[in-house]
Amino acid sequence: MKKKNKEVVYDRMRPKQIEEILIERPIAYLPWGAIEYHGNHNPTGLDTIKAFHLCIDLAKKVGGLVLPPISLAANLIKSYPGVNFPKHSLEFSEKLIRSICQEYFEQLVEQEFKIVVLLSGHAGEPHLQILRDVADEFNKKYPNNYFWALAEFDVLPDDLLVANHSALGETSLQLYYAAETVDLESLPKDREISLEIDAVSGDDPRPSNSIRGKKIADTFVKNASEKLSILIEKYI
Ligand SMILES: [Zn+2]
Repeated sequence: MKKKNKEVVYDRMRPKQIEEILIERPIAYLPWGAIEYHGNHNPTGLDTIKAFHLCIDLAKKVGGLVLPPISLAANLIKSYPGVNFPKHSLEFSEKLIRSICQEYFEQLVEQEFKIVVLLSGHAGEPHLQILRDVADEFNKKYPNNYFWALAEFDVLPDDLLVANHSALGETSLQLYYAAETVDLESLPKDREISLEIDAVSGDDPRPSNSIRGKKIADTFVKNASEKLSILIEKYI
């Protein structure tokens, strides 16, 4: 029996490999991250790494192709009111984010994808809402295709993960997918964690671990694949 091709990353594949998957499962995953300061304990690409790996895990279960991640985002911690983190973030305009999203969607339709899953690792607003709005716009424009723009917390129960910045949820996912990029030791041991000093919004990241990260990732894949199976019935 022919060995099953497990490669799912679009720009690592040759045309024949792409077409084999495209004909059976015309689903494109578009991981959308950011280059954003995530405190001293996490890398600047956390949102990108998170979205990319979650998309790969989902594609391996459901089928489809994962586009290379986009590391362009608006509304970063750099410009949050009341905090002062000017360094280590590259922030782009809302106008540019909207245009890139529209141009990607348009071309993914042209490349014969029927379902587009845009997973945003960055939840700043209105950045995330812009991506959701473009998806709505394209769902109206192409009624035989489906565009699903989501953040990972959309399909996760609150006791496992809520929207957070470099807190317990994001840090655990980062430990699961790229442990070598995390330095928990850089977090203080003798005081409370705060947004103003540590750039953490959400639950204390100090108890983060890869087991929790795996649980979040597995639950994400389970819940997102259930929704995708309904979309596959309808659109493919
Ligand atoms: Zn983040």
